[in-house]
Amino acid sequence: MIRTAYAVINLKAIAHNVQQVRIAAPYSKVMAVIKANAYGHGLLRVAHALDGLVEGFAVARVQEGVRLRKAGLQQRIVVLEGFTECEELQDLLYYDLEASVHSPHQLEILSRQSEPKPLNVWLKLDTGMNRLGFKSPDVNRIYEQLQRCEQVKKPLNFMTHFANADDKNDAKTLQQIVLFKQLTANYEGEKSMANSAGILAWQDSQTDWVRAGIMLFGISPFADSTGKQLGLQPLMSLHSRLIAVRDVAAGETVGYSGTWTSPHATKLGVVAIGYGDGYPRYAQNGTPVLVNGQRVPLVGRVSMDMITVDLGLNSTARAGDSVTLWGDSLPVEEIAICANTIPYTLVCGITPRVEIVESKRSNTFE
Ligand SMILES: *Cc1c(COP(=O)(O)O)cnc(C)c1O
Repeated sequence: MIRTAYAVINLKAIAHNVQQVRIAAPYSKVMAVIKANAYGHGLLRVAHALDGLVEGFAVARVQEGVRLRKAGLQQRIVVLEGFTECEELQDLLYYDLEASVHSPHQLEILSRQSEPKPLNVWLKLDTGMNRLGFKSPDVNRIYEQLQRCEQVKKPLNFMTHFANADDKNDAKTLQQIVLFKQLTANYEGEKSMANSAGILAWQDSQTDWVRAGIMLFGISPFADSTGKQLGLQPLMSLHSRLIAVRDVAAGETVGYSGTWTSPHATKLGVVAIGYGDGYPRYAQNGTPVLVNGQRVPLVGRVSMDMITVDLGLNSTARAGDSVTLWGDSLPVEEIAICANTIPYTLVCGITPRVEIVESKRSNTFE
């Protein structure tokens, strides 16, 4: 069958990116963060590709961890949001998953649990993110409480998360690092702070474990660089085809609400991709698109199934020609800026309509 909108996932690049994590954080174990369907790349596809390359996995939700276990993965798996219900705790225990413990509500659930098997816990400290975790004044008390809890495996592990690590000039990250080290100095157990930005920009944040997410996918965590510039290889490229080429006269508007008026007579290309595929609705006029490898500007509103591009009056492009929305020569980081978002949302947002093609073996789909 002819492909319309499809994403190519180059799984070979992931080993290279893990290597870059190792080079940046040579003394840490690597926890691959593959939440949200591995940032849109396919949870099991990515987990299998990482099998043997990393020491552990992290996911956001219990169900994601269960899927990994059911698929036969045997590494340590940390559920970053932990559990909110007794039933989730039971799943964690049954599937041998580890959990972040960040709230008194969870302590209550733990104390009511009567399973003989103890849970491997990551005590989450809030060092400034103000999202999940216990704040400094509570840490000792919570630690003692968990130490007394038979349902918890000893020693406890510790983690925190950075709020601003992608800004290399923001002193807040250093404050978070110092506070985490102070709070955990007297405790044994494993410790983890760094996300991708921490791995690449904040060496002091590299402790027993680093938690690599976006960089594994070859994407930069920083707004001022691309993955390629950091020595990473992107896994995902997004493609479709031209389905029509039309003549547009000077002064005509294109698309919903007429947000673009053609300043000249030109050829307009209609590409079969839209927000229904995960292409960002807020991509501005001028966002680059590759048609037959050449950059042309997006013009007019992104609609559900289509976008329009200004091919130029002399274009020889025809219906059926190939189009790349992001990929090797068009960094997703650049598209994110044009759409006033971050590359995380673009790769995560690919919808099920988009066909996934693994580049190492053609015609295999998850
Ligand atoms: C998502 C997440 C990470 C990974 O972040 P990246 O910026 O993708 O490397 C690490 N730790 C926690 C707690 C997370 O939620």
